Amino acid sequence: MEFRDSMTLETRRGAKGRHMAAAPDCLFCKIVAGDVPAEVVHVTEHAVAFRDINAQAPTHVLVVPRVHYRNAAELAHGDPEVTAELLRVAAAVAEAEGHADYRLVFNTGESVGQTVFHTHVHLLAGRAMTWPPG
Ligand code: 5GP
Ligand code: ZN
Repeated sequence: MEFRDSMTLETRRGAKGRHMAAAPDCLFCKIVAGDVPAEVVHVTEHAVAFRDINAQAPTHVLVVPRVHYRNAAELAHGDPEVTAELLRVAAAVAEAEGHADYRLVFNTGESVGQTVFHTHVHLLAGRAMTWPPG
């Protein structure tokens, strides 16, 4: 059963109605907490960037908020400033790895390839890319 997928708004909020900082059984919450190892390349107060375990480009980094939201739009509604921070961190990582050109991808929903339901932006760089994506 996909717990993250089936969570209702109510179960993602604590007893007092505040947004939960972490969701049980969420892989990226565990990486943020340091409970699952990852190759972290950049951290800020609100975001963590780490290398994708199945890299699709010479640079393939995931930038995630420390707080748990299931996709980009929910984060944008709940915390617009942190949403912007994801883009700033992605740009900083691209620059640090020497890439002026890069692609950012937010998958939203299973049918377009989202497999982890904790907001993340893919930073892909270091090779030529085609359009449209598959
Ligand atoms: P999505 O398919 O949800 O857009 O992206 C999830 C990404 O997480 C995939 O590219 C996948 O390779 C990556 N991923 C899955 N499990 C792990 C893991 O345990 N560690 C790291 N670093 N990346 C992971
Ligand atoms: Zn999470």
